[in-house]
Amino acid sequence: MIEVANTAKDTLHSDEYDRETVEECRRLEQRFSDKEKEGDKPAPWYGLTRDLALYALRGERYRRKEETIARRRNAMAEYHEKLDKAKPASIVYCLACRSQMNVVEKDLRGFGKKEQILFYFRCPECNEMRRFFDNGEEYRPAPPSCIKCSTPVDQTFKREGSKLIHSYTCAKCGYHEDDVIDLDEKPKAPKIDKDFIKDREKYCMSKKEGDDYVNWIVLMELPQTKEMLERYSDDPKADVISQIKKLNIAQVEALLKPAVEKEKYQDLVFGKPEIYQGTVILPFTIQDTSADRNDYDSQLFLKRLIDEALGETNWRAMSDDFGYKLGLLNGRIRGVESEKDLAELARVRQKKQDKVSGSVEDKS
Ligand SMILES: [Zn+2]
Ligand SMILES: [Zn+2]
Repeated sequence: MIEVANTAKDTLHSDEYDRETVEECRRLEQRFSDKEKEGDKPAPWYGLTRDLALYALRGERYRRKEETIARRRNAMAEYHEKLDKAKPASIVYCLACRSQMNVVEKDLRGFGKKEQILFYFRCPECNEMRRFFDNGEEYRPAPPSCIKCSTPVDQTFKREGSKLIHSYTCAKCGYHEDDVIDLDEKPKAPKIDKDFIKDREKYCMSKKEGDDYVNWIVLMELPQTKEMLERYSDDPKADVISQIKKLNIAQVEALLKPAVEKEKYQDLVFGKPEIYQGTVILPFTIQDTSADRNDYDSQLFLKRLIDEALGETNWRAMSDDFGYKLGLLNGRIRGVESEKDLAELARVRQKKQDKVSGSVEDKS
């Protein structure tokens, strides 16, 4: 097994956590100042309430930091382990040509008791797809329908130069929809939070201040502090979808290239994207220039690098789809765009984060 340094991963998680802390504290301060502007003279204790609420929020963020980072790390490991281990219920044959189909992707669907693994099968001869749940039941989604009047519609897919167009015209109400993906679209410059460094100093507690807070809260166990937190802190779930970074193909390339090149994978080349059920599937090849990895390690390591690089985006590596020949690796990544798919992705990721589990070791 190759070790991916936990420290590097934890630095990423730690930065991300601090960004969330800064955002939450800014929103809390904003709400107080909005109230102040509403007119009437604020009550004399208003400033004190604000300071105490902010102190408690900052302290709680400090108190929960280590545990949250560990939970996120474990959740990712558990998610990948579950998918890696999953096996389809039976052999699947192509309905068009009777060839035996191969699993090309696995996906976690639903929650708790309703959690299921969905296997994507592809025919090696004619590229037909079928999907089955882990209990052997075939997945048959409702046919696409018009967003205006819900009449079933026939969709068409075409490519015009660098544009992928996915469209339909409703036979009943005449509504026409074009969904265009421009492969040449330049990545937008990432939004830079200019005040982050300054605000991190302001809001994220130092070890000294944080430990003082923890000792204080343990001593006091102030019920009103808890109440105040519940009242003023945000529901983290509401923000999860908006936190997924939505990248186009060019942006995803810009993100992946340096991440894999650091580890001696060179010449990342993307193939022709396919649109499948509203998601974009993007094949790629890449050279492993390191002599220290065998084929198995190389594939595993590459997949992990990609998963990590894409961890906060609307893209992820497709599971069972990595190959290796003479130092050349190939694989596919998948991107989702619709609200529904993003919500599903967020739910899967959030669920992994929510599961407090000290029992799952990080296998990386
Ligand atoms: Zn076939
Ligand atoms: Zn219609």
